[in-house]
Amino acid sequence: MTGEDMHTLAQELFPINRSLMGAGVRETLAILQKHIPLEISEVPSGTQVYDWTVAKEWVIRDAYIQEEHPDQVTVRVVDFKKNNLHVVGYSTPIDQYMTLEELQPHLHSMPDLPDAIPYETSYYKKDWGFCLSHNQRAHLREKYYRVMIDSEFVDGSLSYGELVIKGEEEKEVLISTYLCHPSMANDNLSGVVTAVALAKYIAEKPRRYTYRFVFGPETIGPLVYLTKHLAHLREKMIAGFNLTCFGDERLYSYLRTRDGKTLADKVAKTVLSFDQPGFKEWDFNTRASDERQYQSPHVDLPLVSLMRSKYATYPEYHTSLDNLDLVTAKGLQGSYDVAVKCLELLEHNRTYVTTTIGEPQLGKRGLYPTGERSLYTPKSKMIVDILAYADGTNDLIEISNKIGVAPWEMYSIVETLIEHGLLKAGV
Ligand code: ZN
Repeated sequence: MTGEDMHTLAQELFPINRSLMGAGVRETLAILQKHIPLEISEVPSGTQVYDWTVAKEWVIRDAYIQEEHPDQVTVRVVDFKKNNLHVVGYSTPIDQYMTLEELQPHLHSMPDLPDAIPYETSYYKKDWGFCLSHNQRAHLREKYYRVMIDSEFVDGSLSYGELVIKGEEEKEVLISTYLCHPSMANDNLSGVVTAVALAKYIAEKPRRYTYRFVFGPETIGPLVYLTKHLAHLREKMIAGFNLTCFGDERLYSYLRTRDGKTLADKVAKTVLSFDQPGFKEWDFNTRASDERQYQSPHVDLPLVSLMRSKYATYPEYHTSLDNLDLVTAKGLQGSYDVAVKCLELLEHNRTYVTTTIGEPQLGKRGLYPTGERSLYTPKSKMIVDILAYADGTNDLIEISNKIGVAPWEMYSIVETLIEHGLLKAGV
C-alpha cells in the first residue's frame, strides 16, 4: 500500500463513530477485513479482565442542543450528526429543557484553540456532555435549550481483530494499535492504516519471524488480549511495536520500554538514528498509550511505541483538528517506510562470527582494492569493520552502532561474506 492508499483508507474510516466498543468498531474492523484477513473476536460485557470489567456497549442514535425560537423554528446549535466529537463518549441519555447556565457545566471547549472541537469521553463515570468549539460556545445566547442525547447502554461485547502471519520461526513480533477513537486521524487512524499496510507487506514476502497484528480499543483491548495470550506472548514475543500518532509530517519519535534495553528499543533507536536523525526518544515516564499494559509488571513484553508527534504533545491532539489534513499521504508513507525498516532489521539481525584466525585475505576474493596505493574504499572499510566485530557476541544492531553504518547498508555485504565462507550466522 502506498501512502495514498493508506490515506484513502483513513478517509473511508474517518467518519465512523467509533467508541470503546459497539457498532463503530465493528464497522471499522469489517472494512479492515477487506484488506487483510483479520479474525474478529467478541468478549461479552461484564467479562472480568484482570482488575477491569468489560463495559456495556454505548449506543448513540442522536444528540443535539436545540435553541427554541418564539416563531417555533428550532435551530440545532450543536449537532452530533454534523460531527461525532460533539457528544461526550459514553454520555448517559437526557431529554430536558434548561437554561444556558444549567447547560454550561456540561459543555467542553478549548479557549486556546477556539476553532477546535475537543474530544472527551466518560467511559467509567456516568455523565453526559457536549463538546464544541470555543467560538461556537461564545455565540450561545441566554436562552432556553432543549438538550437531547438519545443514547443507551446495552449488554454487548468488546470486539477486536487479530491476524497471525506465520514465519519460519515460532518467535513472534507484535504490532499493536487501537481503534476506539471517533473522527480523528493521527490519534489513531494513522496507526490503524499503517498496521494494515505492514500486514500486507509482511504477508507478501518470505519471513523468518511470525507476526501478530492486534486491533482493539485502547487499554481494555490489550488487557483482554493478554488474558488470552499472555503466557504465549511471554514465551514467544521478541519485539513489539505500538503504532500511534504515526501519520503527520513532523518529527519521528519512539517511547522506550521501562529499562530501555529490549530488542524493540534497540531496533527503534537504531533505525531512527540512522534514518531520521533528530528523532525524539521519550522516556517510559511519559507513557500514556498501550505500552502501559504491555510493559506493566508481570506482563513485561518488549514493546515500544512508534510515533511521529507523540500523543498529548501536539496542538491538534484529541480535537477535531486532528484530521486528514494533519495526517497526509506523505506522512503515512514516511512512517510506513520507517516501520518497514524496523521489521527488516529484526529479520536480518543475528550475531555473526568470522571463520578465519586473523583477518582473511580479502584481495584474493575481490573484496579489497588492489594496487600499490591500496586504500580502504567505503565498502572495503565496512567489510573489515564487520569482520572485526563479528566475534559471535555482537549482533548486527550492535555492529551497526559500533561502526557507525546503517544496518541496511550492511545486509548485502554480510550476505557476500557468508557466500565467501568468511562469516557464519549465529543466532
Ligand atoms: Zn487518544
